[in-house]
Amino acid sequence: MAVREILKLGNPNLRQRAKDYCSELIGSDIFFQIVTDLRDSLHQSGGIGLAAPQIDIPFRILVIEITNTSTRYGEIQPLPFEVFVNPVISVIDQKKQGFWEGCLSVPGMMGYVERPKKIKVDYLNETGEDKSAFFEDFLATVFQHELDHLDGTLYVDRIADPKLFAFEEEYRRFHV
Ligand code: ZN
Repeated sequence: MAVREILKLGNPNLRQRAKDYCSELIGSDIFFQIVTDLRDSLHQSGGIGLAAPQIDIPFRILVIEITNTSTRYGEIQPLPFEVFVNPVISVIDQKKQGFWEGCLSVPGMMGYVERPKKIKVDYLNETGEDKSAFFEDFLATVFQHELDHLDGTLYVDRIADPKLFAFEEEYRRFHV
């Protein structure tokens, strides 16, 4: 178990573009360590997604896991733990949808962000297989939020209306 510190807004390492992960290293001890650290850190924090740069690993790897479907985002569909290596997004439905997002790197805050409603993701999984997945609705937002981390982008950059950026408590009080 290796729970790592999650970098917070203001740390310049969160703003770097992460490098492609060498697919030949999938299955190595180093890769297993990265995935274990991501999983342990995600579980410790109670989040639903974590990108490697958030624990100071500068590669294009992210994990998503939704077990508790009753969250601060309302009722959402479950997603078993999945590792995405070098993910590439194609937008399937440009229509925008908005959700209030939070981020482990911006603790205590929520912000309203609009993103495309349906996407396709091509990636390598934990065992190095080529995979594709379609995500829509809230999961599309979750995935795009995590992928942004690989490009040094945070959801706060995408809040169109600064009035829709709030402390979690105020979000629950005034915006739900
Ligand atoms: Zn985040």
